[in-house]
Amino acid sequence: MKTASDAFIDGRWVPGSQRFVVRDPFDDSLVAEVTHCGDTEVDAAIDAAARAFGAWRKKPAPERGKLLGQLAARMLADERRLGELCVRENGKALKEAIAEVRYAASFFEWFAGEAGRAYGETIPGSRPEQRIVVTREPVGPCALITPWNFPYAMLTRKLGAALAAGCTVVAKPAEQTPLGALAIAQLAEQVGIPAGVINIVPTTDAKRTGARLLGSPQIKKLSFTGSTAVGRELLRAAADDIKRVSLELGGNAPFVVLADADLHEAVAGAMIAKFRNGGQSCVAANRFIVEESIADSFVARLLPAVQKLVVGRGLDAGVDLGPLVDDKSVAKVRRLVADAVAKGATVLHDSAPRGRLVGPTVLRDVTPAMDLWREEIFGPVIAIRTALDELDALAQANDTEYGLVSYVYTRDAARQVRFGEGLESGMVGINTGLVSTAQAPFGGIKHSGLGREGSRHGLDDYTNLKYVSTTI
Ligand code: ADP
Repeated sequence: MKTASDAFIDGRWVPGSQRFVVRDPFDDSLVAEVTHCGDTEVDAAIDAAARAFGAWRKKPAPERGKLLGQLAARMLADERRLGELCVRENGKALKEAIAEVRYAASFFEWFAGEAGRAYGETIPGSRPEQRIVVTREPVGPCALITPWNFPYAMLTRKLGAALAAGCTVVAKPAEQTPLGALAIAQLAEQVGIPAGVINIVPTTDAKRTGARLLGSPQIKKLSFTGSTAVGRELLRAAADDIKRVSLELGGNAPFVVLADADLHEAVAGAMIAKFRNGGQSCVAANRFIVEESIADSFVARLLPAVQKLVVGRGLDAGVDLGPLVDDKSVAKVRRLVADAVAKGATVLHDSAPRGRLVGPTVLRDVTPAMDLWREEIFGPVIAIRTALDELDALAQANDTEYGLVSYVYTRDAARQVRFGEGLESGMVGINTGLVSTAQAPFGGIKHSGLGREGSRHGLDDYTNLKYVSTTI
C-alpha cells in the first residue's frame, strides 16, 4: 500500500496547497512530503466531523464495535509495513515499532467490545409513579492531539474510545510523525468507516490548529497527549466554551528498589521501564531510588545489562535503541547529563553521542538539586539516588509535581501494599516495569493529567450521562 501523505478530510485525501517534509531521524533522509493543513482544511475537517456525527452516533453500538474489530485486524495483518513506517518517521527500533502496532491495535480490539457495553442504569424513583433512567450519550465531535513518541498507540487509545462511544474526530498528529495517523485513516477507509467520522489534519502550526479546534463550538471535547506546558495552555483555552478535556501529560516516574527486592527482576524491569522507546515515553522511569544497603549490588547487575544495549538505525537487526527523535531532544538529554555531572553526579557509564544516536548513560550520587531529578529526561539516562529506608524511599518517590506512574520492586507483601497505597500516582507497577495495557485505566494525577484512557473507564471521557425522569 502506498504511504498516505495527504490530509484525510470527509473521506477524501486532500493534497492542500502546502506540504511539509517528514525526515528520518536517523539520517535526515526524506520520508514523505505531507499536506500542511491551514484554517481552511481544519475548518473543513471540523464541519465534516460535525456532519458525520448524527449518523455515526445512531449506528448501533455493536456495529461500531465490529468496524473497530476489523480495524484492529487490518493493523495486525499489516504490522510489518506499519512498523517500518513508524521506524522511518520516529526512529525507534523495529521490534519496538511492531510492538507498538500490536499495542495500538489492542485499543481497537478492546473498544470493539466496550462499544456494546456502554451500559446505562435504572434507579429506583422516590415516588411510585417516578421512573429514573440513565443513558450514556456521545459527547460529540472530538479534537485529538497526539505526540510523536507513539504515533499509533497515542492515537488509537483515543480514537478507539471515541468511535466506540459514537463520537467523530478531528485528529492532529505531531508534526514529526504524521504518517502513522494517516496510515490508520487508510485502514479505516478500507474497512468502511463512514466519511467524516475520522479526519486527520497534519500541520506545522500546532498552536494555530489547536486554537482553531478549541475555538470551534462544533468541537465538544479535546483529548490531548503531550507536555504539561502545552496541556495547561489548552486547558485554559478550553475554558471559554467549557469543553470536556482529557489530558495525558508529563511524568517523572520513580523506580524504587527496596532492599528485599529480587535484583535480577528489578534490573529486567528497569531495562524496560527506562529504555523502551529510548526513554522517550511519559511512563519512562526517570528517578531511580535504591535502598542504600543494596545499591552496590543493584548497580553491579544493572551495568552489564546496560552495556549490552545496541544503539543504531532502527531498521537494522539487533538494534535496541534507535536515534532520538530530533536535535532538540539530543540537546536536552546532554544538558541534563552535563548539569548532573557539574553538580556532583558520578558517571558509571556513558557513551559519546553520534548525531542523534544517544547511547545509555548511568549516573549515581544524583541529588534533587540536579535538573534531571525534576524534569522529564526523555532519553536513555539512568539517574540513581539512594534512600535510607522504606520511608525515605516513599517520601523521595512522591516528591514531585507529577503523578503518572511509579514503579517499586519488593518481595515483601506488606511493603507492596504500603507502596501501592502510598505512591501518589495514577498507576503503580509492583515488580513490573510495564503497566500499559488496553484493559487497565491509563492516566495520571497532579500535573500528569486528567481522565483515563483504556479500560471500561476509557469510554467515560467520551460520553455524557443523561438522566431522564418520567412520571407515568
Ligand atoms: P512534545 O514535547 O512531546 O513534542 P508537545 O506538548 O510539544 O510535546 O506536543 C504534543 C502535541 O501537541 C503535538 O501534536 C504538538 O504538535 C502539539 N502542540 C504543541 N504545541 C501546541 C499548542 N500550542 N497548541 C496545540 N497543540 C500543540
